[in-house]
Amino acid sequence: MKLLVVEDEALLRHHLFSRLGESGHVVDAVPDAEEALYRAQEYHHDLAVIDLGLPGMSGLELIRQLRSQDKSFPILILTARGNWQDKVEGLAAGADDYVVKPFQFEELEARLNALLRRSSGFTQSTIEAGPLLLDLNRKQALVNAQALPLTAYEYRILEYLMRHHQQVVAKERLMEQLYPNDEERDPNVIEVLVGRLRRKLEAECGFKPIETVRGLGYLFTERCR
Ligand code: CA
Repeated sequence: MKLLVVEDEALLRHHLFSRLGESGHVVDAVPDAEEALYRAQEYHHDLAVIDLGLPGMSGLELIRQLRSQDKSFPILILTARGNWQDKVEGLAAGADDYVVKPFQFEELEARLNALLRRSSGFTQSTIEAGPLLLDLNRKQALVNAQALPLTAYEYRILEYLMRHHQQVVAKERLMEQLYPNDEERDPNVIEVLVGRLRRKLEAECGFKPIETVRGLGYLFTERCR
């Protein structure tokens, strides 16, 4: 998933950038609200992690502005210990959940994964389609309980398509899942990866769930649950 992280403390920002990256996310990490608003206008994000105590425009104001611009992605706020008013105001401004600083990365990740699951309509930590099962925590695809060998990039594409099953997903959106920077994005790479994914799914599961919608993108045609 593509995440927006807004945190002014450089050390924590870098820590979140690298740990969330290791968990398979593409992370846009910025130090202030102004930069966050710019990124949110230019790019698509699946979720934002916002520190409430920011220099300049506050995290609360940032959340209000994002929501007033119809940005509907889930927002997880970072708040200082003991400041219950912050949590209440953050949630009232449009945040979905909060983590109190200092926190264990595992707690943040668990809350973030729960928000991502809910926003794509799944309540379990697995997604199933026909013989295929995705384990969202282990980042693994299984066919009849056997691991389907996928590269990290193939897995990310499959997970994104299954989370957005029966919707056309633009190639551009898939590229954002793989590369943080515009200049690295090459639509040919997506075609190659989708091609490999299709061959593996057909060989191992005997089904062809990924359709090309010409000029628009890809469609995962199987119903996922
Ligand atoms: Ca701060």
